Amino acid sequence: MENHDFMEEMYLAAVRQLRTIVFEIDYKTGHTYCSPLFMENFGIDSITNEDFTANESTAGIVYPEDIELYRTLFVSRRGEQTVTCRFINNKGVVNWYKVTLQYICGEDGNVDRIIGTMKDVSDEIRSNAELRYHRDYDYLTGTPNFQRFNEQVTHHLQWDNGHNHAMIVFDIEKFKVINDLFGMRVGDLVLIHLADVLKELVLPPNAYCRMHSDVFCICITYETKGDIIRFIERVKKRIESNKFEFEIKTSYGVYLPEDESGLEVNLMCDRAALAKKKIKDNAMQFCAFYDEEYRTEILKNNRIEAEMEQALKDRQFVMYLQPKFDLESGEIVGAEVLARWNHPTRGMVQPNDFIPLFERNGFIMRLDEYMWEEACKAIQSWRTEGRKEFPVSVNVSRYHIFNRKIESILENLLQKYELTPGALSLEITETMFFDNSDELYGLLKRLQEMGFRLEVDDFGSGYSSLNMLRNVPVDVIKIDKGFLDDTLNSEKGKVVIRHTIAMAKELQLQIIAEGVETTEHVNFLKGSNCDVAQGFYFARPMPLEEFNQLKF
Ligand code: C2E
Ligand code: CA
Ligand code: CA
Repeated sequence: MENHDFMEEMYLAAVRQLRTIVFEIDYKTGHTYCSPLFMENFGIDSITNEDFTANESTAGIVYPEDIELYRTLFVSRRGEQTVTCRFINNKGVVNWYKVTLQYICGEDGNVDRIIGTMKDVSDEIRSNAELRYHRDYDYLTGTPNFQRFNEQVTHHLQWDNGHNHAMIVFDIEKFKVINDLFGMRVGDLVLIHLADVLKELVLPPNAYCRMHSDVFCICITYETKGDIIRFIERVKKRIESNKFEFEIKTSYGVYLPEDESGLEVNLMCDRAALAKKKIKDNAMQFCAFYDEEYRTEILKNNRIEAEMEQALKDRQFVMYLQPKFDLESGEIVGAEVLARWNHPTRGMVQPNDFIPLFERNGFIMRLDEYMWEEACKAIQSWRTEGRKEFPVSVNVSRYHIFNRKIESILENLLQKYELTPGALSLEITETMFFDNSDELYGLLKRLQEMGFRLEVDDFGSGYSSLNMLRNVPVDVIKIDKGFLDDTLNSEKGKVVIRHTIAMAKELQLQIIAEGVETTEHVNFLKGSNCDVAQGFYFARPMPLEEFNQLKF
């Protein structure tokens, strides 16, 4: 075999193995060549210069949408030109090819020859597209993920100055309950339903994504605030019309970037989410806007957090006591310990202004412990004075469920002030029973075995039922003040409250009504066989010195 033939064989073998098509057009000789693979793939056995640029047979193999792109190969007619575009093979299958042309020019500057290669890169392109998909889209619902949303929205906000934008964050009310009651699979289907609604209603340039679990985010353009509300109503309505056997309620928070376009998208979402939080306790409302109020609140919270440690050291937190009265005898039979903050510049601050924050940042554990100790001190002093003894109720924040030290803290206090556990009553709010059943039941059981009296606070404000109380170790239920107010206005309500009291008694539980404000309340409770009452009608919460003036 001649050397020349040998080289050609090797060359052909290499080209075949690389699955690369090679072709050549020699302008000087008019000779064209293309490797057999070209023939195999496209059923064409020769190409000419015209074929490459304009001829119909070439147009027939280049994917129509990519013809423009393909033709850019022949524009400058210099050096090396490359494009990646789609071709249709002789079986009608579309594949991606990387086409490279090398222009070889003579001394006169004219093109003498073109040497070209075509390589099938379909696999690479598809796996890149797949990667891109995984990078940008949520695996469960197929909605864009936050990263993609962030890119899109950042881009819009930068370039679209002509529109106002609104950032909307929404989620499903009690999504956890859906998962618990109907299973994760149904929970997933609900999320997919939400995604389908968004796909239908949020059209470009508006954008949306699933942030995490059941939290979705939408960015829309608008002209008036009414546009935003109408849009939200449409989304809400579409979500609510579904095939599930339960209701899907959604709540929405809105942030309007307005003059603050420099803010990062995730911070905008945070603010919208903050606005949404505000609606959680208001059943009628499903949408809230972020406004100045929130910013002021954040600043206020920051200030409180900076001050709280020192305030505890300086004994700025004060114990107030509110007596509990026996409805029959009118005597004091208990007292609830309530915290107040005697602030050096802001005066006496009410618990609603600091307890929710302390519950979020965990400081409530320290404050509770402090109040418990104040209560123990007071009980000890009454005892030395030989006054009547009754259980003093302290509030136990939900944080303590996971506090491994709670038992030893209480035990140490009893020892230090030489008290028996019966001296303290522990008020546990009803909402705790819903979220944390196993841990909570375990803790309550241990506390009750230690001898503490356990009260369910705010009974009737949430989900609990007397049925649930059968299984929970508690001694007292405290009917929530809102429950009393609302139900007394209707005959049906009165029946409910009367039977609640009767059933509680049959379960051997003591019953206390709180928020008793009027003679009407008192008469009704007496008539319903309620044991104990607490409320402004009898006495407001008061400092220890004042409480000591009471008769007991
Ligand atoms: P709570 O435990 O339900 O306490 C009863 C609340 O009802 C008290 O509000 C009390 O002042 C108020 N109240 C009493 N009688 C009446 C009445 O007749 N009508 C009305 N409308 N309200 C009445 P306060 O002192 O503002 O405390 C609010 C909440 O803050 C408490 O609700 C409790 O959840 C929490 N809290 C207060 N002190 C502490 C504490 O030391 N530790 C913990 N963890 N929470 C506390
Ligand atoms: Ca309480
Ligand atoms: Ca209460």
